[in-house]
Amino acid sequence: MKRILCGVDIGGTKLSTALVSHDGSLIDKCIDCDHVNKPENQLVEQITENIKRLLSKNGLNETDLIGIGIGCAGHIRFRDGVIITTSNLKGYKNYPLRENIKRNFSVPVILDNDANAQAFGEFRFGAGKGYDSMVFLTISTGIGAGIIIDNRLYRGLTGTAGEFGHMIVEPESELVCTCGNRGCLMACACGLALPHLFRKKISEGKISGLNLPPDFNFDRVDGKLLKQGLDMGDPVSMEIILDSAHYVGIGVYNIFQALNPPLIVLGGGLLSWGDFYLSQIRKTFNEYARDMIFDPFAIDVSKIGPDVGVIGAASLALEPC
Ligand SMILES: [Zn+2]
Repeated sequence: MKRILCGVDIGGTKLSTALVSHDGSLIDKCIDCDHVNKPENQLVEQITENIKRLLSKNGLNETDLIGIGIGCAGHIRFRDGVIITTSNLKGYKNYPLRENIKRNFSVPVILDNDANAQAFGEFRFGAGKGYDSMVFLTISTGIGAGIIIDNRLYRGLTGTAGEFGHMIVEPESELVCTCGNRGCLMACACGLALPHLFRKKISEGKISGLNLPPDFNFDRVDGKLLKQGLDMGDPVSMEIILDSAHYVGIGVYNIFQALNPPLIVLGGGLLSWGDFYLSQIRKTFNEYARDMIFDPFAIDVSKIGPDVGVIGAASLALEPC
């Protein structure tokens, strides 16, 4: 049997651990939801136990693994496997997670940012198959991205390259990003912006067809609610989706100009807005790019689906050194 991969995706609500075959299909996985408030050393134990349990449950040994890839939201210094900061978990300031997991195993352990992990998964097993370079942009509550150049992730000096969510697309915007700047792509286009955008449209006198109660708390506006609105033809939901698509289109254009990749893959929860969303992103991109595209260039959507986090983490073990 060909050796397999192990992936760990440390999220803000779920800790997913999976065994993944060499071609990217899921063999087995387990999900915990009790990891967020644990001290660092207990998370190390939990991850170690999950991996060992999954291996033995499937009649496998550590020697069947190519390596263990871990994806974690936040700033990760790749070269030494340290979590610099993460807003998903308590603590973890300059925490050497990779070394502490590595101590319990004899196979390589790789720690990277979750968006980089998803990007590499999509590159090896999803929409990026057949390409040697691409950019992945995930649009959900926040915006993350990963850059692949010549079959490897491009991480920059610290490991934080590809923070396209903080690219400024509207400097005069009233929307303030989590980083403190005005008009970051993340402030204007993703899930974090939706409550504000919805509230603003209503305060301008626009009427939503969503039949919301008079005491509706606009903080509850999310991608799912707007999807319902889109399906019903609600003009307020549709306007917000088009606004988001406009800014993502500008973001894609900026990435295109900076890196000239052959492919940009879009993923994340807001892509459930479907073709209505995607076609506006492409339209905005084309309006700006006009006659500056000299070779085939594609904007495609993620093919891996909801397990992209853990499959992406596993794929990190396949990155050439
Ligand atoms: Zn920002």
